[in-house]
Amino acid sequence: MKRRDVIKKVSLLPLAGVLPLQAVIAAPPAAGSPVVNSAGEKVDLFSELGVTPIINALVTMTFLSGSLMLPEVLEAINTTSHDFANMYELQDKAGARIAEMLHAEAAMVTSGAACALTIGTAACITGNDQQKIRQLPNLPGPQKEVIMQKSHRYLFDQAVRNTGVKIVDVEGAGEMEKAINENTVMALYFNAADSSSITHEDFVAVARRHNIPAFIDAAADVPPVENLFKFQKIGFDLVTFSGGKMIRGPQSAGLLFGRKDLIEAAKLNHSPHECPIGRPMKVNKEEIFGMYAALKSYLQRDHKKDWQDWLDRIKFIGNYLSGIPTIVSETRIPKGPANAFPSMTVTWNQTKVKITPAEVVKQLLAGKPSIFAGGRDKLSIGVVLLQPEQVEIVAKRVKEILTPAIQ
Ligand SMILES: *Cc1c(COP(=O)(O)O)cnc(C)c1O
Repeated sequence: MKRRDVIKKVSLLPLAGVLPLQAVIAAPPAAGSPVVNSAGEKVDLFSELGVTPIINALVTMTFLSGSLMLPEVLEAINTTSHDFANMYELQDKAGARIAEMLHAEAAMVTSGAACALTIGTAACITGNDQQKIRQLPNLPGPQKEVIMQKSHRYLFDQAVRNTGVKIVDVEGAGEMEKAINENTVMALYFNAADSSSITHEDFVAVARRHNIPAFIDAAADVPPVENLFKFQKIGFDLVTFSGGKMIRGPQSAGLLFGRKDLIEAAKLNHSPHECPIGRPMKVNKEEIFGMYAALKSYLQRDHKKDWQDWLDRIKFIGNYLSGIPTIVSETRIPKGPANAFPSMTVTWNQTKVKITPAEVVKQLLAGKPSIFAGGRDKLSIGVVLLQPEQVEIVAKRVKEILTPAIQ
């Protein structure tokens, strides 16, 4: 969509006349409200398909469609959808800019962090050997091996095993050292694991000593924004982050960055090449532009202001609920590295307010609008994914559910 069309579309919205144009463009339409198409007709595909729009009052989750793309990402998608591009050129040029922005040697846009795990592993196995690229995941000879700490094994290691490798579990740097042999192709670090028996630095040092690429999965580990720069500095050869979590790019995009030879090999294992293991993990042109726009915007954001805004939202909801007897609202900041941002918990004396947090969660989800919160012993409310007008909606719905339970 051209800027002119954006403005035209905006002028069709009710209220546009009284709002400064910038505010209208910057804010996505209120959740659940119909959007006006270029013919001036109201469109609401949610209701056309009978799909329930959900307010996510928790954290980013893939099954809940990740994050909401920033307006500048939607603009990137719209403004690049009118022309074709050579996808090799686009991936190379977007990757080069992203690498510069992240102080990395090289970068590329993948279809999410899970794709980055698959094609990053493939890159470590094949290099630029076309025959091996075509043979994956069934290379002749002994099975290739990837080293992981026992406590780092997770569901996403299937994205690594998709390349045909077997994962070898180790505990401690000594075991890691001993486990490396001529079949070892890579060592993977899961940054948000509950515990680690090897520090980042030792992990990288052992891998280096044996000339094995070290890859770190930090998919959900911003904020803080500094994490985007941290791991290449420590010496990891490959790093991945999701695009569709707090960076607020397209849900089906992610970042893979690090050593230039490995990124080039990862590209050879990815679309638009037709044969390789990553061909079904295509990222479209608009998503590559969208991911670039999201990262640019994320790096320029006022992160202190965002943080303060989240704390203010928690305070607002806490104040809104404060009239309910025995209610206690608390700010919770998980130590991370995943989801390390303010959320809130709400508790009450269940003999005075006779309803369980689980029942509140159920009623929030079943209500109108449908609100996804969490918790069993305590009600958990996330605020970072709420659109501004949803903060009060969430507070109001929680109050409406708790009030009739007051004894
Ligand atoms: C979310 C996540 C992934 C998958 O990321 P996508 O971008 O959805 O593919 C991989 N690893 C970890 C640790 C994650 O949190």
